[in-house]
Amino acid sequence: MDQTQESPENTEATLELPALTAADRCDICGAQAFIRVVLATGDLVFCGHHGTANKEKLKPIAITWQDETDKLSA
Ligand SMILES: [Zn+2]
Repeated sequence: MDQTQESPENTEATLELPALTAADRCDICGAQAFIRVVLATGDLVFCGHHGTANKEKLKPIAITWQDETDKLSA
């Protein structure tokens, strides 16, 4: 019994992503982005509307789905 399992929650590689800022713009409409999607091929950023619109398609292939849409109602 010498297996070291210090943090089982850390088995997936989690990237420290910077928070989205006003300088991040939706790739589709240019509005302020609140969702960042990290794909194997690169990053995409979307506004709340387009993030939701593309979620069904992109979520399954996303490495990281960073959703900051809660800032919208803050
Ligand atoms: Zn948009």
